[in-house]
Amino acid sequence: MNWLAVILLVLSPAALYGLILLIAASVSAIHPPRCPNCGRRSFRCVNFLRAFANLQRKPFCWAYYRCNQCGNTMKRNALRGEWVAVSEEEKRQYCR
Ligand SMILES: [Zn+2]
Repeated sequence: MNWLAVILLVLSPAALYGLILLIAASVSAIHPPRCPNCGRRSFRCVNFLRAFANLQRKPFCWAYYRCNQCGNTMKRNALRGEWVAVSEEEKRQYCR
């Protein structure tokens, strides 16, 4: 086995992860989630937080969304998919 094959074998999980993220972003852009407030498909992701973003474990994989129609702002855990209300502090910090 040559070095190129070894490098491709080692990097293939990272490439697959990147491909999955790209597909998820494309699907979200084409078919945005429905706003719980007005019911329209106009929720846009404005921010995404991961656990190691600021060395705290609390904001674990939160995706922040804002509705283009009614201005509603909510966040969703990337793993559970439940919509949660966003505090004013979070709006100022993450939804600009
Ligand atoms: Zn809305």
